[in-house]
Amino acid sequence: MSEGTYLCDTCGRRVNTVRRDVVDRDYNALSKAPLWNCEACYQRKRQGRTDTAKVVANSAVGGLSETAGNS
Ligand SMILES: [Zn+2]
Repeated sequence: MSEGTYLCDTCGRRVNTVRRDVVDRDYNALSKAPLWNCEACYQRKRQGRTDTAKVVANSAVGGLSETAGNS
């Protein structure tokens, strides 16, 4: 059997090791539900935060300058 002991709250897979994102401690306190991530989701989440911010920032700048130039 390849199933792990712990359940990843992000992808729903059962894994042998889960990690809790310390950054989300405030969020967890509000929802009262601990967020456990498998190693893959934990890393993806940390990187995704920065990547998403960059993409959104770039899109916003491009869209704004384009709209301003047309009008
Ligand atoms: Zn996961």
